[in-house]
Amino acid sequence: MGRTTLVFTEQKDGRLRNVSFESLTAAARIAEGGEVAAVLFGTVQGGQVEELGKYGANRVYAVACDELKQYSPDAYKQAMLQVIKRVNPDAIVLGHTGIGKDVAPRIAARLGLGLITDCTDVQSSGGDLIFVRPIFAGKAFQKKKFVDQKLFVTIRPNNIQPEENDGSPEVIPLDVEIRNLRSTVKEVVQRTASGIDLSEAKVVVSGGRGVKSSEGFKPLQELADVLGGTIGASRGACDAGYCDYALQIGQTGKVVTPELYIACGISGAIQHLAGMSQSKLIVAINKDPEAPIFQVADYGIVGDLFEVVPKLTEAFKKVLL
Ligand code: FAD
Repeated sequence: MGRTTLVFTEQKDGRLRNVSFESLTAAARIAEGGEVAAVLFGTVQGGQVEELGKYGANRVYAVACDELKQYSPDAYKQAMLQVIKRVNPDAIVLGHTGIGKDVAPRIAARLGLGLITDCTDVQSSGGDLIFVRPIFAGKAFQKKKFVDQKLFVTIRPNNIQPEENDGSPEVIPLDVEIRNLRSTVKEVVQRTASGIDLSEAKVVVSGGRGVKSSEGFKPLQELADVLGGTIGASRGACDAGYCDYALQIGQTGKVVTPELYIACGISGAIQHLAGMSQSKLIVAINKDPEAPIFQVADYGIVGDLFEVVPKLTEAFKKVLL
């Protein structure tokens, strides 16, 4: 019979975030033949329903409400609880994004549900659904299963390949009532120059203390632009004031799993590796051949980043532009 699985999707600037399609693919595995329903907050834009159908949604709940146009923990929690109450799903899936990390535990606590966060895979084994999640800064993987009937998980971006699964979902408008908000969002400040979300970026060019100044990030930004990526940083660079903490990658920063991670002037401390070691391809540029970053790098370039990075940019320009 399968499970009715509810996926809370995310959109940014009118576009569905990729993690929503990855979550739908995870949801199809969790549903085991049951219905996969997507929930869309805010105004439904042209083509979004078709896109959700393309990645396996059988149904789309459209929740249009002024308070949900921008993320607000209180408003989202209230809306999600009302949707869950109405749909009564067997499983709930959210992206392990800033929003998912913030709101999922609130919902789990309110509903008394178990929650498995930061899943990188959903597997079926001996009749059980197994949820895989990295632990110890990505050095090991934990395999967990639910003892409860109701499942609730968050999915780490960039890990589950979205699978196309032709569907033409029915759209069901849902009304929610948002009351007594304890906080409201006044303004959203965009910190990354490219506008690409670090945790979902396919290419990240990261700078460490070796960039030496905020000016030193310029050649990295140029390389990121040519590759269609965005810039990140080590805590060393953030602490030194070369860039904003919003760019920090690592144990106490963001976790990224891009197709390509280029570490420039970063030594490779364990706390930094915690945020990037799961990247598909790692290139390290460092003038110290003994730098620990080379131990996790697929390709290492020993040299001065201020010489190497512009050369890479020029070479990629010839091939890509
Ligand atoms: P450094 O270690 O100083 O390395 C700079 C590197 O640049 C060196 O390897 C040097 O050889 C190279 N270099 C210098 N000049 C050049 C040049 N011209 N060309 C090429 N290479 C050059 N760190 C994080 O990154 N993220 C975290 O989330 C994080 N969380 C932490 C949490 C805790 C509790 C603690 C204790 C620490 C945390 N840290 C974190 C800090 C971490 O331990 C390191 O101090 C930090 O990652 C070092 O940053 P770095 O590699 O940029 O600097």
